[in-house]
Amino acid sequence: MTSVNYQSLVEKLSEVSYLNGVMSTLGWDQEVVMPIGASEARAQQISALAGVIHERMTDPRLGDCLAALEAEDSAYFDTLQICNIREARRKYDLETKIPKKLVKEMAGLSSQGHTVWVAARRDNKFSDFAPLLKRFIELKKEWAQCAFPGMDHYDANIDNFERGTTMADITPVFERLKAELIPLIQSIQDTHYQPDNSFLQGTFPVDKQEALARKISKDIGFQFDCGRMDVSVHPFCGGSHPTDVRITTRYQENDFIESLYAVIHETGHGLYEQGRMLEGRDLPVSESLTMGIHESQSLFWERMIAQSELFCRHYFDTIKATFPDNLQDATADAFYRAINTCKADFIRVEADELTYPLHIILRYEIEKGLFDDSIAVDDLPEVWNDLMMKYLGIKPPTDTLGVLQDSHWSSGAFGYFPSYTLGAIYACQFYQTMTNELSDVEKNIEKGSFAPIKAWLNEKIHRQGSLFTPHDLVCRVTGESLNPEYFIEYLKKKYSAIYPLGLE
Ligand code: ZN
Repeated sequence: MTSVNYQSLVEKLSEVSYLNGVMSTLGWDQEVVMPIGASEARAQQISALAGVIHERMTDPRLGDCLAALEAEDSAYFDTLQICNIREARRKYDLETKIPKKLVKEMAGLSSQGHTVWVAARRDNKFSDFAPLLKRFIELKKEWAQCAFPGMDHYDANIDNFERGTTMADITPVFERLKAELIPLIQSIQDTHYQPDNSFLQGTFPVDKQEALARKISKDIGFQFDCGRMDVSVHPFCGGSHPTDVRITTRYQENDFIESLYAVIHETGHGLYEQGRMLEGRDLPVSESLTMGIHESQSLFWERMIAQSELFCRHYFDTIKATFPDNLQDATADAFYRAINTCKADFIRVEADELTYPLHIILRYEIEKGLFDDSIAVDDLPEVWNDLMMKYLGIKPPTDTLGVLQDSHWSSGAFGYFPSYTLGAIYACQFYQTMTNELSDVEKNIEKGSFAPIKAWLNEKIHRQGSLFTPHDLVCRVTGESLNPEYFIEYLKKKYSAIYPLGLE
């Protein structure tokens, strides 16, 4: 029998979930179809709705309901119910523990931050951005103090995106990556060799790009009756519900790889959302877990599957038939090599899978230093460039191509960056376990038969919702905690076959 208090909790949480769904649809609309003239009106609508959601989430009656439930005998609740109560408590505490004044100042600074950052980046003038950044770090330290009293301030910020994960977990893992990847990238540079990718240059009609991306997304398992694919400035995955998942991409006539792999990446996020447990879909238990786990799903499809030799072999004829003029002399093997080139460059979002982790480690070390005061904001351009030199052997010619390139700090999103690389490591661990548990994974990829792979991810990860912490989920699925060795091995094996490194 369900307690009256639990029933009341379900009603309150479901309402918040419906409102969040509306918010998400408004956000999607703004990025995809809204006329530019509606910006101001939309901002007011979003702000009004955000106020209503905040009110619901901090309603003292929700607090009373939780307190009453916590006083009941937990033996009466099942696992899903216990998770809903625990997650509701976590969110309620996070929302109510932060003083209104601080919430307001952070929100104001965040919207101002974007404008200031855009201008500073355009003008290549870090000193215009520095005062805002300093203030944001102060506010985020204050926030940490309120949200997680007694916890290290940067750990608290990491917890906001990857709960239960701290610097003590991340630092040794990143040290391992540095020890292995820096020399590996160096030896690739020393070969002075790059795979031929001339056939990826040229003109690729957008309608054909779209048809190809749509086909592959569908083949992988994206359900278009419960989702859509559209165009936006930056690709993302949004939507209001597991039955309404919206992915986006962007097209450039002279580059089909970018849009295709963006679609595959966002499809990975979309499959996670569509694959959530049916029970309690409007309750916290069914929600996707963390940024890192979400990213593990997008990277799983983008890199482990779609950047593999087998996948390229399966799709090459289709791709060639789509762009016959450009690819007539290319082979599947040449295509595989061309989409897996490694080149140290300045911009994180354009980085390949091998150099990408070093972009993240650099940001992680800087954030750590900003929070423990071992790095001063004013020194950031120099610190940034020194680390780029140390890790990738290149020095950005401008701050626009260096310290000012990412928007994250302008909105106070400290502790977010590590989740990208944690996601890549999780993806590799999941892939390894999957190949141990399922037979014929490689054969299936080569045949383009992805259903068993999707079903495995559905069962092991998507349907687990928020039942466990990322650490516990990874342990349950793979039998061990976060372990970078699989990722390192994967990269070494892959790139020593593409580049003449003499390692094998
Ligand atoms: Zn992603």
